[in-house]
Amino acid sequence: MPDRTPYIAANWKMNKTVAEAAEFVDALLPRIAATQCDVVLCPSFIALNEVVERRRGTAVRVAAQNMHEAESGAFTGEISAAMLVELDVEAVVLGHSERRQYFGETDEALARKVPAALAAGLEPILCVGESAEARAGGETETVLERQLQADLAGVEPADLAGVVIAYEPIWAIGTGATATPEQAQDACAFIRDVVGMRGAAADRIRILYGGSVKAANAAELLSKPDVDGALVGGAALDPEEFAGIVEAAG
Ligand code: PEP
Repeated sequence: MPDRTPYIAANWKMNKTVAEAAEFVDALLPRIAATQCDVVLCPSFIALNEVVERRRGTAVRVAAQNMHEAESGAFTGEISAAMLVELDVEAVVLGHSERRQYFGETDEALARKVPAALAAGLEPILCVGESAEARAGGETETVLERQLQADLAGVEPADLAGVVIAYEPIWAIGTGATATPEQAQDACAFIRDVVGMRGAAADRIRILYGGSVKAANAAELLSKPDVDGALVGGAALDPEEFAGIVEAAG
């Protein structure tokens, strides 16, 4: 059995002011002091620095929720990988379905962003997932394969193990309609196969499930062999609830 450290990430989306982010970190740290998991907090851009400073000296890592692929330039409102690295941010969420849906993030852009993140030393957390219609039409694997092939096209096989992939079915995000552990396992195993076909050391890649994970359902989802962790939205806004998910991961 490959040794993959469980990975639990909190995607706060457009929630928490800087003061609220600080309060959360102070409440969370004592609750997860004994964890062996990789715990990653993804605050808004303006709270990144505060969270980075508050978690110093702990194993908690910090990720941005997006970045632009260019090194610099005339891209008003955007943030580069170098700007994140300067703050000691370690990872970045890319391709979240809300960014694909509301902000026109395309697979073509992701094909540039993922290698740009890796080149800058940021760990990409690449989100993929099908709509309810695609699942109902039996298209889940087709959608996942298309997204993975497109978004990872610019990544050398040797570098693929440095990418974290989050399987996030759109129908499960923020809806309370959590995928069953079997659905999560099937999709994560399929993703591992697809990445393996690209020549990657697939048994080293961490694949997360995301979609209405909470403390009460985390252990069952995380017990599946190909589900290496969770990307958590709503339940990650409360330190007690999020700590419960971390605890379920071990
Ligand atoms: C997410 O936005 O990545 C997510 C999984 O949200 P939620 O946990 O609220 O479904």
